[in-house]
Amino acid sequence: MTMTNYEIIQKLAKKHNAEKEEFIRLLTSADEADFELLGRLARKLTLKIYGNKIFIRGLIEISSYCKNDCLYCGIRRSNKNAVRYRLDKEQILQCCNKGYKLGFRTFVMQGGEDKFFTDDYLCDVIKEIKKRYPDCAVTLSLGERGEESFKRLYAAGADRYLLRHETADNEHYKKLHPQSMSLANRKKCLFDLKKIGYQTGAGFMVGSPYQTAQTLCEDLLFLKELNPQMCGIGPFIPHHDTPFADKSKGSTRLTLMLLSIVRLLLPNVLLPATTALATAQANGHKEGVLHGANVIMPNLSPLEHRKDYSLYDNKISTGDEAAESVEHLKKSMKSVGYEVVTDRGDYKS
Ligand code: SAH
Repeated sequence: MTMTNYEIIQKLAKKHNAEKEEFIRLLTSADEADFELLGRLARKLTLKIYGNKIFIRGLIEISSYCKNDCLYCGIRRSNKNAVRYRLDKEQILQCCNKGYKLGFRTFVMQGGEDKFFTDDYLCDVIKEIKKRYPDCAVTLSLGERGEESFKRLYAAGADRYLLRHETADNEHYKKLHPQSMSLANRKKCLFDLKKIGYQTGAGFMVGSPYQTAQTLCEDLLFLKELNPQMCGIGPFIPHHDTPFADKSKGSTRLTLMLLSIVRLLLPNVLLPATTALATAQANGHKEGVLHGANVIMPNLSPLEHRKDYSLYDNKISTGDEAAESVEHLKKSMKSVGYEVVTDRGDYKS
């Protein structure tokens, strides 16, 4: 006997799992009532585990140079129009100094895969951040590296690593990435990171070209298998200088639904209401939180470089997305019953 969507959602909320066919059913046929129920149960579960606290992370975009050529990404190597910059140690530390004063206790260094950032250079930066701000967590989001590199960065003090798997379906992965990249290596990196001891983040875009309910289902099953501490989910937004310039953008409703499903699947996961969601929908942060998210990652990069870390068109870095506006973000979260806290915001196991 096939289950109704209502029954699938209840099962997901109780057992934190579902069968492949059930996920696909939910993804393809959820109506407004199902969507609301998912959101309500996800929010309730987040409140039970993390309370009404919203963790903030200061996002420092350290380099727009990238050796990769991901078809969706505005800073892909082939994009000759991309303005390239990188921050040096001093500039990164200045961002941390500013962020610390604003109440950030996690600094995320994200960037393209830039050869400039050798293990030696990064270890030096990480050690200095940890020395100056021993009460802060350091998160890296610098793409694929070797296991030895991950080990060295962890030994230097890095606490977390974000590496979205992008899609857990092999054929789909090949359509989004150049020949030189593979899902197998992406997955290997993620398992290595977890094994080393990082709080590890996976994730994917919603509505990326060629994505289907089947590939999304693979994403959910992979997440359950990996059991990451964090998961980044945002809508795909085209960038005009990429091969996907003419593809349509991902649905924010489906993004919110997937945030709720991932919350129910991985109850303790740290789940951001992403910049892409806030770019695609004016009240994206609030909506994300109301559907199970509990993390927001405002932009702490030097103001003069923000426009150049252009992953997709119209990527916002002002308003509640700017670290400088954290007071406004606090008010905005308070208006829906949540409190932005000054805290490392570690994973609760
Ligand atoms: N080089 C690092 C950081 C990538 S940027 C890495 O490989 O992990 C962070 C995330 O932005 C990516 O993982 C991707 O999922 C997302 N992103 C890139 N282009 C995008 C687009 N056009 N629309 C929405 N999200 C995008």
